[in-house]
Amino acid sequence: MADPHRASSGTGLDVDAVRADFPVLERQVHGHPLVYLDTAASAQRPRQVIEAMDDYYRRYNANIHRGVHTLSQEATEAFEQARRRVAEFINAPAAGEVVFTRGTTESINLVAQSFARPRLAPGDEVLITHMEHHSNIVPWQILCEQTGAELQVAPINDRGELEVDTMVAMMTEQVRMIGIVHVSNALGTVNPVAKVCHEARQRGIPVLVDGAQATPHMPVDVQALGCDFYCFSGHKMYGPTGIGALWAPLETLVAMPPYQGGGEMISVVSFEGTTYNEPPAKFEAGTPHIAGGIGLGAAVDYLESLGMDNVAASEAQLLDYATESLSAIEGLRIVGTARAKAGVISFTMDGIHPNDIGTIIDHYGVAIRTGHHCAMPAIRLFGLPATARVSLGIYNTRQEIDRLVEALISAARLFA
Ligand code: PMP
Repeated sequence: MADPHRASSGTGLDVDAVRADFPVLERQVHGHPLVYLDTAASAQRPRQVIEAMDDYYRRYNANIHRGVHTLSQEATEAFEQARRRVAEFINAPAAGEVVFTRGTTESINLVAQSFARPRLAPGDEVLITHMEHHSNIVPWQILCEQTGAELQVAPINDRGELEVDTMVAMMTEQVRMIGIVHVSNALGTVNPVAKVCHEARQRGIPVLVDGAQATPHMPVDVQALGCDFYCFSGHKMYGPTGIGALWAPLETLVAMPPYQGGGEMISVVSFEGTTYNEPPAKFEAGTPHIAGGIGLGAAVDYLESLGMDNVAASEAQLLDYATESLSAIEGLRIVGTARAKAGVISFTMDGIHPNDIGTIIDHYGVAIRTGHHCAMPAIRLFGLPATARVSLGIYNTRQEIDRLVEALISAARLFA
């Protein structure tokens, strides 16, 4: 049966059908229909995700694993089915290679502390890029403080593109770990991650990819990328907050020491010593976010029903339209003009602070983000303390971009 959300051309989405799945889009803000252009901060959830979580709480709420009663077994099956769906979504070879975490941030901290920390010594280096989110900077800084290693930063050009050749040249023998963002949340740049992973692998350097802004927007295949770790967050991809994942090959997870101790991650405990469970349980100490896992599985089902190629094609068309429309506004400057971009447009306007832009256009029902976007070094590189940022999702339309433009022009008039 044809999926009702796919446009007949097969190169985009039936956005009206998608919008009907998102209850929040029915609401008004300050008397105007909501225009939600802050998906990079957190996406909205379709009813399919809300209902999957609601169904768990209403019908089979119970703790998972080891429970012999029916509710526990149903909850365990739903949680583990979600893991299988997440694994398929990123083309992981096995579901057991997907560790559920609180999100991208926790995934990166886990890798820094469990995988990288035992391997680093004074004089070693961790290599990242200048466009990283704070989540892919600070855990490595903490690690460097703990081990005496040094943080190295690969440069970006004035379009906001990674200087790949320089990054490759920086992959010296001292580099023991690389962290790179797949899609920048501040600039929208899509990085040539497969190339970076290929070069790093030739030199035996493990690579962690921060996929927080990639999984919502494009097909992701961890095997094709050739990375060693891939991290993402449920709430950026139309799923719940408080849940995300870390992918790594099983042999890597087996060799890593646990990150946190507690229930679930053990095999046998005695006061003399403890043996640990197999991955992924070894890294999932304590009761997990069960409803969150189930909701993330539903989000994956939802995105798969749309087709990630269709999602990417639809958003690319809207990004072009939005870029053109915003560029036509006098005094507006787009920050981040990489040739490969996903649905993020950072910008400034002459004479208006980004925070004022955001506050004023909220009164027209238009939600955007303003500030440093948790990527202070990247924004500062452009000589700015802050930008306004529009970020696109599967539910956005050209009419909404027109509403954004009208609101921005009204804001500019107030400051003229
Ligand atoms: N990396 C990137 C590129 C992000 O956009 C974000 C969220 N803004 C994160 C990491 C952190 O994600 P979370 O807060 O869900 O852990």
